[in-house]
Amino acid sequence: MAFVSFKKTILRNLVSKPYTRKTEKQYPEGTRGHVENDMDVCVLCGLCSIKCPTHAITVDKAAKTWSIRPMSCIQCRCCVDNCPKKCLSMGLRFQEPGEEKITKTFKQSEKAIAAQEALMKAAKERAAAAAAAKAAAVNANGAQAGGAAPVKTEEKKD
Ligand code: SF4
Ligand code: SF4
Repeated sequence: MAFVSFKKTILRNLVSKPYTRKTEKQYPEGTRGHVENDMDVCVLCGLCSIKCPTHAITVDKAAKTWSIRPMSCIQCRCCVDNCPKKCLSMGLRFQEPGEEKITKTFKQSEKAIAAQEALMKAAKERAAAAAAAKAAAVNANGAQAGGAAPVKTEEKKD
């Protein structure tokens, strides 16, 4: 008899929904989430680090890294709102809770490094072209001024 009851329980459990709720893997709407950075776009300008009221963000231009200490972050969004490249966002992906005060470090991607180098090269070329154009204009003005200078002529008296 006990075996029949046991079988019934097994069958009921096989077809019924679980009594427990699934773990939320997505923050509910309205929560502030946590800061995420798209390292394909970040140019390591450091503005987020300057604006952060709790100094949770560190930017190391030499090492090409962007770091955040999640436990120091108060989710104020200040960094997100001030990022000129709009690569920061308040991610709503679930994160496993942690006990340690860790620092999460992300390396700037090769794509972002290449894009930044191309921009710097283009800026340098523009600056060189502007300097050359300015120098040419100065030379031209100098030549023009020299040509228009009054030339003294002697008057002949008869
Ligand atoms: S996340 Fe934005 S503000 Fe921060 S270093 Fe990168 S580009 Fe600059
Ligand atoms: S959300 Fe606020 S506290 Fe958190 S890293 Fe950004 S600026 Fe700092």
